[in-house]
Amino acid sequence: EDENVSRNSIVFFVPEMQEEIIRQNNLEKELIPAIYNGEFLVYLQPKYDLNTNRLSGAEALIRWNYKLQRLLPPGQFIPVFEKNGSIANIDNFIFVSILDLLKKWKDLGYRLVPISVNFSQVQFRNPNLLRDLKERIRGYEDIIRYIDIEITESSTIDSQDTVLEILNELKKIGFKLSMDDFGTGYSCLSNISLYPFDTIKLDKSFVDKIDVNNRNSPDVMLVSDVIQITKHFGIHSLVEGVENIDQRNILRDLGCEYCQGYYYSAPLPLAEFERILGEDKIFEDWR
Ligand code: C2E
Ligand code: MG
Ligand code: MG
Ligand code: MG
Repeated sequence: EDENVSRNSIVFFVPEMQEEIIRQNNLEKELIPAIYNGEFLVYLQPKYDLNTNRLSGAEALIRWNYKLQRLLPPGQFIPVFEKNGSIANIDNFIFVSILDLLKKWKDLGYRLVPISVNFSQVQFRNPNLLRDLKERIRGYEDIIRYIDIEITESSTIDSQDTVLEILNELKKIGFKLSMDDFGTGYSCLSNISLYPFDTIKLDKSFVDKIDVNNRNSPDVMLVSDVIQITKHFGIHSLVEGVENIDQRNILRDLGCEYCQGYYYSAPLPLAEFERILGEDKIFEDWR
């Protein structure tokens, strides 16, 4: 009986493990063919200006239309590609897609808004990063200023000097820079002034902790203080993951400048985003 249980538990456990390992190996081999097969899609999540309630930009977020059959969210493949170092292929795919998109919008006479792209920390280990980027942006010089590169706060932790040097170079080229997911790593407020960031993106966890019925709570004060500190340094603030009007109203009253979240919009397929961009309407709050 005992033997049976342990055998059963092994039989139950091992295939699952193997499946996981095989899946990871396959994903690695599947990446490049999937890029050529058009399986990767760019979604755009609108960002809103809290002073005007108007669309102020967007963040590009990858989606994998796996075998052209089902849409995988980044959480299901980004960690695998970060581990094996191939994430740069995804970042590059998004980067060149956004270069082309902005160029297309410019040629069509659309209102240009800044679009942010995520750069994995893995990219900072590539000694040719700057050379490769300079190569890639040839012919796109006039739209570089509409590209905002998002780097998580935690990517600035390892090899600080190298990262700082690269970020300064990226600024010189003309990119905007945002610190992503601020508040999730070993946050250090002095990082805000050390690095040349244009915008600090406060992580969703800040807004999740807010009690909308108690504006004097320490969690609200914390968000308020971070926003004030970014202001002192002349850096823009954006809060991520805003899901309802009460959260939005508090953030606006605290002086937060920009916001992104399901309250305004989920990440959208390209055509839908372009429709909203073209309409250029003031966001209508629902009650
Ligand atoms: P992130 O850069 O912090 O992006 C924000 C994530 O929060 C997105 O998830 C977005 O859909 C989600 N989100 C936005 N508003 C809300 C909200 O109101 N509520 C909730 N619950 N979630 C919200 P997504 O698209 O699943 O992406 C997850 C992460 O995957 C991103 O976090 C980013 O770290 C990574 N990622 C996505 N695309 C890329 C890429 O092209 N390159 C790299 N290196 N990473 C990427
Ligand atoms: Mg991001
Ligand atoms: Mg983020
Ligand atoms: Mg995040």
